[in-house]
Amino acid sequence: MKHPRLFLFRFLWLATISTVLLSAGTAGRAADSAGGVIALKATRLFDGKAKTLLTNGVVIVQGDKIVDAGSNLPIPQGAQVIDLGDATLSPGFMDAHTHLTADFAGNYNDRRLKELDLNVSEQAITATTFARVTLEAGFTTVRDLGSRFVGSKEFVDVALRNSINHGVVPGPRMLVATYGIGATGGHFDSTAGFRDMLFGREPDYSDGIADGPDAIRKAVRFEVKNGADVIKAAVSGGVLSLTDEVDTPQFTPAEIAALVDETHRLRKKIAVHCHGDQAAKDAIEAGVDSIEHGSFLKPETLQLMKTKGTYLVPTLMATEWILGKLDAYPAALQAKAKAAGAARSEMFRNAIKIGVKIALGTDAAVYPHGQNAKEFKLMVDLGMPPIDALRAGTSVDADLLGISAKVGTLEKGKLADIVAIPGDPTTDITGTERVSFVMKEGKIVKNGAKP
Ligand SMILES: [Zn+2]
Repeated sequence: MKHPRLFLFRFLWLATISTVLLSAGTAGRAADSAGGVIALKATRLFDGKAKTLLTNGVVIVQGDKIVDAGSNLPIPQGAQVIDLGDATLSPGFMDAHTHLTADFAGNYNDRRLKELDLNVSEQAITATTFARVTLEAGFTTVRDLGSRFVGSKEFVDVALRNSINHGVVPGPRMLVATYGIGATGGHFDSTAGFRDMLFGREPDYSDGIADGPDAIRKAVRFEVKNGADVIKAAVSGGVLSLTDEVDTPQFTPAEIAALVDETHRLRKKIAVHCHGDQAAKDAIEAGVDSIEHGSFLKPETLQLMKTKGTYLVPTLMATEWILGKLDAYPAALQAKAKAAGAARSEMFRNAIKIGVKIALGTDAAVYPHGQNAKEFKLMVDLGMPPIDALRAGTSVDADLLGISAKVGTLEKGKLADIVAIPGDPTTDITGTERVSFVMKEGKIVKNGAKP
């Protein structure tokens, strides 16, 4: 060996680096250290299902699971105790309607132009920051309902979901939809409003655009083949699209029947974007799992949802944001937003009265990512009891997503997805917007000051 001192130096340097990397790794795996048991304590506990809060809440976590949860539980010997003080322990929040790979919050026309020269890889990198802020806001699970970039064949949502699952980037657990399925010229046709053939061809099933039952089946199969966990489709027009009316039906009953049949055949759930009443009736009759938005739904249609067990995901945050920034949208879109906004409050109150299953979903991307929890207050302001809003954002979402065996409640055996809400959310629901502690699968994501 020619340079023993240099060799020793290199060895020591590598050893130091490995130690640093190891400790950085274990910092994110707190529950694995010291026998692997963490005891979380707070003044109150919301278990995700009950109609009331418990006092003196304790959750015992070992590895990635909840070992026990309840009131005044004994603390196991040697457990690391984290006392969160005057706060409420809750299951990690869920958002049943996000678009973590996109950002529609700025000026509409600027964004539309920017999308034409956007490098999709750059957008994917940016999306990792959207995932991180969403998780840090307490949302440990999202159902991501559509990811597309005009003229691109990338599946950025699948890539983001996989990167989060592999621990490459922090983010919520994602159930992804790949491309929203829609009709030619409909809400999901991203070439609509541009000069004909600007992109060289009409979009087809491989862009999520399909007309007729067979093409729709092909689109569903293509998306599942490419990694979709859930199928999303637009059965009525939408607000942020240029060539459709907001409430017109965009699929025939035969097309919707094929959509639902093929999706359920592949054991996936089908979420449909729908503002209009007629389109909703067709979709509910056909057996869709959830209606997203639902702005113009009449009481008899909501009654049909109740009868069929269809979930409503009202996405109040989306209309709230657009109505607060109307100048950022073209005149035609302003008119659609005003019409949907004017109808949605009465629809939501009727849905509560009738007893429709309401799941929390926000349409994140329409507003800046990370503000998802403001949906809780919007629901409460429109008459939903705070405890029901909390259930909508935890156990009800878990049921809708089909993952209630694993998450959605603080119960023995569930994955340790846990947040701490400062104060009592049943007297101040806005505490959900300031979570002081976030844990996902036993790993501490955020541990702020004791309120
Ligand atoms: Zn959406």
